[in-house]
Amino acid sequence: MLMYARRLKGVSLSRIRKMFEVKGEDMINLGIGEPDFNIPEDSKKAIMDALEEGFTHYTPNKGILELREAIAEKLRVENNINRDPEDIIVTVGASEALYMCTQALIDKGDEVLIPDPGFLSYDACVKLAEGKPIPVPLEGKNFRMNPERVESLIGENTKAIILNSPSNPTGAVMEKDDTKAIAELAEEKNIIIISDEVYEKIIYEKKHYSPGQFTENAIIVNGFSKTYAMTGLRIGYLTAPTEIIEELLKIHQYNTACAPSISQAAALAALKGPQGAVDRMVAEFRRRRDLMFKRLNSMGIECNKPSGAFYMFPHVGDEIKFTNKALKAGVVVVPGSAFGPNGKNHIRFSYATSYEKIKEAMDRIEKIWM
Ligand code: PLP
Repeated sequence: MLMYARRLKGVSLSRIRKMFEVKGEDMINLGIGEPDFNIPEDSKKAIMDALEEGFTHYTPNKGILELREAIAEKLRVENNINRDPEDIIVTVGASEALYMCTQALIDKGDEVLIPDPGFLSYDACVKLAEGKPIPVPLEGKNFRMNPERVESLIGENTKAIILNSPSNPTGAVMEKDDTKAIAELAEEKNIIIISDEVYEKIIYEKKHYSPGQFTENAIIVNGFSKTYAMTGLRIGYLTAPTEIIEELLKIHQYNTACAPSISQAAALAALKGPQGAVDRMVAEFRRRRDLMFKRLNSMGIECNKPSGAFYMFPHVGDEIKFTNKALKAGVVVVPGSAFGPNGKNHIRFSYATSYEKIKEAMDRIEKIWM
């Protein structure tokens, strides 16, 4: 093993990224986790204006002040979180924010509690920082992160816990009481919460509660990829307690310097503009979720009805066998075990594809299942 590859040991390449590459004329891809919508009109215009006006240079490391002020206002009004714009860093997607948090805060051997099943980056980011991911098995049909279970896994080396609601890959939304209980636990045990809230706005019957509402001891990670269908513009943000911001900046300054200027312009326009496009997108996701849920139910496939994000995580038995059979039938899905040991026997369907395609995909799945 070459010396420079030491940190990369134990980190595998993403099995979801691999699914992006599966192509075929008749293939329906239910493996992809990005909204199939356009960015808001106001954002398009802001990008054109930015180009026209030469807004293509470095920005302040933390991001332009106007955007950070708009984010601070959003956090105050929507999340009941009061953070100064100076305690906000605009990032290259939520991905950079997660990477920055783990690189800056985790020392070799530190333990970080992560949801299992959970977004792949959590495990990888903790390992890249030479920390130790500790999976918290999500419980029951609702994939609940049970505060008692969390408490039982906290040890003397526990440095942080990552929360993700609404969740990728399960679509589950945390209950207010559980979020509050974990926030209180984190304060009591002096561990930091990293709360990944990128699906905050893609939520159906339930309401989103950020742990930042209950404790100062939280880093809130969010982004524009999912809410405003801006995955390729790579723009997100985090807010953290003042004393942590400086540590995080040490990674951000030398890693990316700043988020792309034109993406910052697009994000600002998205936040300040009308939110109708978001509402329409969420309504369409709900329509697709209802279709997929009804079809899976009628096939007798055991599945929880997700309250957020655009994923469904049914129980299918041998998930590798199912994935391969689905692939042969022309449907790309992701095996649940890609998201952690507790994802075994499940698969992840994304419904970020058209209603018609979902219908066709369900017909194909029905044939291989029945
Ligand atoms: N967090 C979760 C839970 C995600 O599902 C994703 C993307 O799929 C991200 C973070 C990364 O988002 P971004 O595009 O903002 O880097």
